[in-house]
Amino acid sequence: LQLSPAPAHAALEILQRVYGHERFRGRQSDIIDHVANGGDALVLMPTGGGKSVCYQIPAMLRDGVGIVVSPLIALMHDQVAALQQMGVAAAVLNSSLTLDEMREVEGQLRRGALQLLYVAPERLLTPRFLDLLHGLKIALFAIDEAHCVSQWGHDFRPEYIQLSVLHQQFPNVPRIALTATADRETREEIRQRLALQEAEVYLTSFDRPNIRYRVTERTDAKRQLLALIEGEHKGEAGIVYCQSRKKVEETAVWLAAKGIKALPYHAGMDAEKRRRNQERFLREDGVVMVATIAFGMGIDKPDVRFVAHLDLPSSIEAYYQETGRAGRDGAPAEAWLAFGLADVVLLRRRIEESELSDQRKVVSRRKLDSLLAFCEATTCRRVALLAYLGETSQPCGNCDICLEPGDTWDATVAAQKLLSACWRTGQRFGIGHLIDVLRGETTEKVTRFAHEQLPVFGIGRDVDTQVWKTLGRQLVSLGYLIVDTEQFNTLAVSETARPLLKGETTFMMRRPTVKMGRGNRRPRG
Ligand code: ADP
Ligand code: ZN
Repeated sequence: LQLSPAPAHAALEILQRVYGHERFRGRQSDIIDHVANGGDALVLMPTGGGKSVCYQIPAMLRDGVGIVVSPLIALMHDQVAALQQMGVAAAVLNSSLTLDEMREVEGQLRRGALQLLYVAPERLLTPRFLDLLHGLKIALFAIDEAHCVSQWGHDFRPEYIQLSVLHQQFPNVPRIALTATADRETREEIRQRLALQEAEVYLTSFDRPNIRYRVTERTDAKRQLLALIEGEHKGEAGIVYCQSRKKVEETAVWLAAKGIKALPYHAGMDAEKRRRNQERFLREDGVVMVATIAFGMGIDKPDVRFVAHLDLPSSIEAYYQETGRAGRDGAPAEAWLAFGLADVVLLRRRIEESELSDQRKVVSRRKLDSLLAFCEATTCRRVALLAYLGETSQPCGNCDICLEPGDTWDATVAAQKLLSACWRTGQRFGIGHLIDVLRGETTEKVTRFAHEQLPVFGIGRDVDTQVWKTLGRQLVSLGYLIVDTEQFNTLAVSETARPLLKGETTFMMRRPTVKMGRGNRRPRG
């Protein structure tokens, strides 16, 4: 039985004739072979890696129609238009069609005239449509953006969970699930929820070597951003992510007033305006899109030169996904993130106040902790990022830490001082007051509580206020200090701080970045 060689040859022929690509990339050929021969596959490949041909070509090689499940209507239309342009019989079925158009597509399906059908999950799952499918020859099911099945993820779509019926109702039709999100937990969830335990897993390296990662302390977000754009990305296209719609609006207006071609994008804007802004971002040169995370999934603009985050994303996966929109053309691009203690406090509180079950809170906390550890890392960002995605790598030479080494110092003693100050003042003050105590400032509050009498008073004069702030944030991020958000953000010493206080572990720290870009000023201390 010699099944494999034939599809391999036929697949290459299609790649060249239909797509005009000379050869397969990475593991595309293996994946196509496997699925064309009837196997299930889970494909984890970074954005821009070339996932589409992995299901499109097997669909063309096999008898019948390939059914592609995709969560995004706009994206479906783009992909189908591109396929039709190449002469592939493709169609789309979703709520944006008129009744007549829908009938037309169903007719094509029944006549066996389609090679690929893109369909929204809620449409696919209707009993009527499943019935229709049972009467057809089906080449395969492709489940694009498969991470949407993950309840912990930021793109969760409840309908995706029901896609396991495909396996029950069509056990002999191969299924291929694809995603650009690859942390272990999500991967496991996809396998379980989509009943893909038996599927072959194809994991491509998630490294995006052309993206430079930089994480910095937020001091004056707008000015830092302006310095970034004017200093290093003048006239270039970029995306600026903010958490809130209000901040999106404000930032876009502010940048525009500074002469930057900036446009806002968020789910609260009217659809027409949103569509126009997206269109301009795609067609014009050098547009900076200031957006909430509502913007970006499925946006295929190859020359985005930078992605800036003015607030912390919700997790490392989200961060990876969002920054992955930079540099799809392979040319140098930048991922820049500014964050502060306020983000940490806000995200922690959001989890605590959420309706999530206890179990999910635990997962969310762990995800946030991983993200914070990434932000506070004193070793290569890329190594940390890839490690989270399950890959081991060497220091990259293309992140802030690799490029500006020597910026770490042993902050063990300073950390001990800050923890002691917190402890000695009764664990009921915020970072500002603790810094005053450490720096020996006789403020009204210090005098009122007689804190100038404490042995910790003035023991931190040798360290800058800004450095104390950074240290405080790092101790919070890493769980040594606990913020009580109900009590005016007062700080308490956590159990995990014990080894540090006893001098059993050391605490390394990045010096705060005072100036943006190259050349950091070294604070005293
Ligand atoms: P993904 O869905 O993984 O983000 P796409 O399938 O959209 O990626 O492919 C990204 C880009 O790479 C597209 O422009 C596509 O035409 C191109 N591409 C895919 N496979 C190949 C290949 N074998 N050779 C050259 N270009 C390819
Ligand atoms: Zn690095």
